[in-house]
Amino acid sequence: MRWLLFFAALIGASYCKEKFNGHQVFQIKARDGNQINKLQELINMENFKLNFWKLPTTTERPVDVVVPSGSLKLVKSFLESHGLEYSISIQDLQLYHEMDSIASDYPNLVSQLKIGYSFEKRPLYVLKFSTGEGKRPAIWLNAGIHSREWITQATGIWIARKIASDFGNEPNITSILDKMDIFLMPVANPDGYVYSQTKDRFWRKTRSHTLGSRCVGVDPNRNWNATFFGQGSSDEPCSEVYRGPKPNSEVEVKSVVDFIESHGNFQSFIDIHSYSQLLMYPYGYTCNNAPDFAELDEVGKHAAQALYSLFGTRYRVGPICSTVYPASGSSIDWAYENGIKYAFTFELRDTGRYGFLLPANQILPTAQETWVALQVIMKHVKDHLY
Ligand SMILES: [Zn+2]
Repeated sequence: MRWLLFFAALIGASYCKEKFNGHQVFQIKARDGNQINKLQELINMENFKLNFWKLPTTTERPVDVVVPSGSLKLVKSFLESHGLEYSISIQDLQLYHEMDSIASDYPNLVSQLKIGYSFEKRPLYVLKFSTGEGKRPAIWLNAGIHSREWITQATGIWIARKIASDFGNEPNITSILDKMDIFLMPVANPDGYVYSQTKDRFWRKTRSHTLGSRCVGVDPNRNWNATFFGQGSSDEPCSEVYRGPKPNSEVEVKSVVDFIESHGNFQSFIDIHSYSQLLMYPYGYTCNNAPDFAELDEVGKHAAQALYSLFGTRYRVGPICSTVYPASGSSIDWAYENGIKYAFTFELRDTGRYGFLLPANQILPTAQETWVALQVIMKHVKDHLY
């Protein structure tokens, strides 16, 4: 039940809607007695549905208050009109809370790393699963780089808890973690994610500003340093596949690149998208076969078979370019070109009936079947370290 509520909140689907969706925690400072009185007024405005964690009684300590998404605008303008200083300390309460609690529930296995800040200064969190010291061979799992693909953030978070709870109980994941570390980034584009929850459900890109254009955002899956000016991306800032002014211009991309390069021992990079039910590998920028085509294709087909065995969901397997369309500057082309051989990208359910608006009752099975496929890939990586 807990999971159901959590996912419904995350997905914002047809029922259990708006659990903590898009809520933010404001930290507000009062400078004098007059401002404390203003905060008291705010508490009394019942239609704002605010939840004060600390009450405004002194100018010495700021107060923390949870603001529901529907009240964000009104609360901001109230604070601004009365000169009250505030900052937003937690964005999207539910997801951050879940990452925190996975790390604190499994302190011997899971740690939460902050690898940077988004354009709008949200922390970029990665969950690290590790049983050893040093830079062991590692797997990178990425979700939500395209913000509107909400099934991917939900799947990422579900998998995070699954890895933690299965470790020590389930032989496959236990043997993987005995040898390797897993790094999982459930919300790779947090600015876009919050925007897709509060303003535009179908927002895909980052929220960075482009000089000289009214259009906001870069496609963070065309911004990697892999045949940057190639086909399947655009130099037009208003395009959905705008590649950005230069490779790694997006801090969300650059933070991952810097982390992976300084680590130096990643053997696999898996990027999770939706929708279309595809499991793909390099290349995106050209339809020529990658040097490891045969091995990647075989691993991909095994993973898709395993996925199918759970609920009968069919996936197509192949290189990005010939399976969907040419795409340059993508994450897995960058990974592959930088020596990370086991580079895959998933497009989760469905094939278009609901598209990005996948109903809540498909969330759990999607996460479960994806996890089955991921384990096939991760086991292959573990057995073929290079
Ligand atoms: Zn995508």
